[in-house]
Amino acid sequence: MSRRLLLAAVATAIAAAVAPAIALAAPCDPIQTTPHFRGEVPSPQQVLGFPIGAQEVTAAQINQYIAAVDAASTRVTSGTFATSWEGRPLEYAIVGRPENASPTGLAAVRADAAALRNPSTTNAAQIAARAPAILWLAGNVHGGEESGADADLRILYELADRDDCAAQQILDNAVVVIVPTQNPDGREHETRQNHYHFDLNRDWFARTQPETDGKLELIRQYPPVLFLDVHEMGGQHYFFPPNKDPIYHEVADNIIDWQDKLYGPAIQAEFDRQRIQYFNDDLYDFFALVYGDTVPSVGFGANGMTFEKYNFASIAERAYEHYVSQWVSISTAALNRSSILSTWHQEYVDAYNEGVNGRLEPNFVNDKGSKLQFQVPTGRVRHYFLLDDPDKQAELQSLVRRLQRMDVSVYRLTAPLTVSDFRPYGRSPRATTLPAGTYWIPMAQQQKHWIQGMLNEDTYVAFPYFYDISGWSNPLLLNVRGGRSGQVLSPSAALVSSQAEPAAPALPADVPRIAVFQTSGGGADSFGWLSYLFDQVWHVSFDRVTASDIAAGALADYDLLIATEGNPEVANTALGAKGRRALADWVTSGGRYIGWGGGAVLAGRTRLTTNTFADPHSDVAGALLRVNVDEGSPLADGVGDEGYTFYDYDPVMRATNPSYVVASYPAAETQDFYVSGFADGEEELGGTAAITDEPAGLGRVVLFGSEPNFRAYTLGMRKVLWNALFGEEPSAGAALRRAAVLDAAAASATSTTTTGFNGIRLTVYGRSAATARAVLDRAGADYRVLRSAGKVSFLIASPGGAEGRLAVTLGPAVRRSGADVIVFVAPS
Ligand SMILES: [Zn+2]
Repeated sequence: MSRRLLLAAVATAIAAAVAPAIALAAPCDPIQTTPHFRGEVPSPQQVLGFPIGAQEVTAAQINQYIAAVDAASTRVTSGTFATSWEGRPLEYAIVGRPENASPTGLAAVRADAAALRNPSTTNAAQIAARAPAILWLAGNVHGGEESGADADLRILYELADRDDCAAQQILDNAVVVIVPTQNPDGREHETRQNHYHFDLNRDWFARTQPETDGKLELIRQYPPVLFLDVHEMGGQHYFFPPNKDPIYHEVADNIIDWQDKLYGPAIQAEFDRQRIQYFNDDLYDFFALVYGDTVPSVGFGANGMTFEKYNFASIAERAYEHYVSQWVSISTAALNRSSILSTWHQEYVDAYNEGVNGRLEPNFVNDKGSKLQFQVPTGRVRHYFLLDDPDKQAELQSLVRRLQRMDVSVYRLTAPLTVSDFRPYGRSPRATTLPAGTYWIPMAQQQKHWIQGMLNEDTYVAFPYFYDISGWSNPLLLNVRGGRSGQVLSPSAALVSSQAEPAAPALPADVPRIAVFQTSGGGADSFGWLSYLFDQVWHVSFDRVTASDIAAGALADYDLLIATEGNPEVANTALGAKGRRALADWVTSGGRYIGWGGGAVLAGRTRLTTNTFADPHSDVAGALLRVNVDEGSPLADGVGDEGYTFYDYDPVMRATNPSYVVASYPAAETQDFYVSGFADGEEELGGTAAITDEPAGLGRVVLFGSEPNFRAYTLGMRKVLWNALFGEEPSAGAALRRAAVLDAAAASATSTTTTGFNGIRLTVYGRSAATARAVLDRAGADYRVLRSAGKVSFLIASPGGAEGRLAVTLGPAVRRSGADVIVFVAPS
């Protein structure tokens, strides 16, 4: 969504149809009640040799303790929902009254939850009156943020053994699913990410990693009304909801209501009583459908909440405060069980009815001081369609499977369907006839919010403060054609059966020998994502080479070198004159260089390309941009004449020779130019190159301006990468290769300073530059300034990354300052 193209924002009153949630007073105080232990279940001290809070438990100790409690207690059933890449089992425990936690009891719990999620269930009131609420506690998704798991073991122990009224009121009304660690490999290595450098709190919709995929299958079996995702961060005061702006528009109103009126006040009262310092009711991204709060909310109707505790506090303090916030939350849910379950069912009825009427939920802002900037268009959306395409069978299968595994019903047309208002992605509506075989996803079903979340043309950002990406439309990520309609239609169609994961494409007989150069420490994610793709999806072997390996002539053993995202300055310096010469000699004598992001800029620095590179002056916060693709290029095999880059403050790449361009951004003033997600100043990309394929002596240089394997989300661009690795040589190549020599004189004018930067980005209108600067200076921030017409961008170092002190505290401080903000983006 471009700011230019936005409809005038109309502040729409929120349909306040939901009855206010009023917390019932606890007949028995959740925290102040003196615990009474039956002594039937071994304590953490007895099993592990130390009490919770004395030291951090290990991943193995988590599983050891779960097994001990399961063995001792009829209140507990445990199991394994996934195995990490490094072979660690991810265990869960379900705690409830023995009759609920038994195999038959759990089958009834699952059946009741499924019935409540079904909008056509007629006895929902009776089910809500008797069924336990399913509540989830999930810790340690970021491996270095340990204490959620420690707190969870304490809660497991207390729920399994206590018989006082405070524990009993939870057990009488709930089953609690406890997942102490969502990332055992990261826990063992004290890394935020998992083995392949995926941030598992960004993997929720794509489910590329086993830790996430197994978790979502367990959630589907035990869908929560409350999901707590427990973290640590750099700010000193504890954070719990109410959040939060921006909020994704398809989060149901009752969830915001639960946070604002039920859970938030309950936790706040207890923290006030204990004088634990906290902040809430402030900026906190509840927007991107990649997190452990937004996905349980939009996908399962749960109240998804993120808790954050200062990561430099002692393990005793971290585990204690996470214990308090979670114990109060599950007590609050238990006490309000019946009304929560009724509301939960009504949420699905409402979603279905919104689907029938083709109504999208409007945007709103929740916090005092936030100003609604953009509204959701009011046009009707009743159906999505995905066009069948012989070249896109694998992508279509992946997307259909992804929808089905979130309980979306997908159909296929059995007869042609005439649609008068078919609106292809990023295009204007037109009348068309969709052929039989087209996939049809009606919005009139229980997963209406999730369907919009996945198949949207745009995310309709309400308020431009981001902690992550702003666009994730799945058909665009996969480069599958389709569109939507607001018409009332009755297609002839058949339900599509459960789809399997498509097989990986067959490798050619002669697989090239591949070396991968991780351009710098900042490129660890990109390198990890590629390693995952090679090891686990394509089953291609490769070697990692360093700058000194290259300088020492190591490339002689390889056909192909990949330079991933990272800082090109660091890589260029590391190569030195000798490394640059070795690289150029290898390419000109027949090697193939493939680079993206900083790896593309490095080709400019090392004079392997005639492309030029410049810093972006636009603000495109992790969004999808359409590119025109030259179908004559072998890189376009199976791609079609257009695609989408995942653009995230990447260098602006210009080709000096247009015949080398494989994909380019359309001219900004044309209808083809299209952004899905937040963008400001994106016009500067119009007409520039997205992918080039250039002869260099006997070799070849293929450059992607943006990461083609972003978090393994971008299956559309991944196909271009496959073609670059394993596809045909360019047809013009034979002649060019004879003639061309690397023209160092014409080589790249390269002046990028922001490539590889992964800190906080703040862009304000020029009139607010001084105000913003004062906020940054007061916070002790270290920043650089980029100026462009009418606006000023600050690139701010963020020690501690996405949950560092500045990443958490600067957004609210900037908003309070009254600065006129174009965008605030925390590091991803
Ligand atoms: Zn975290």
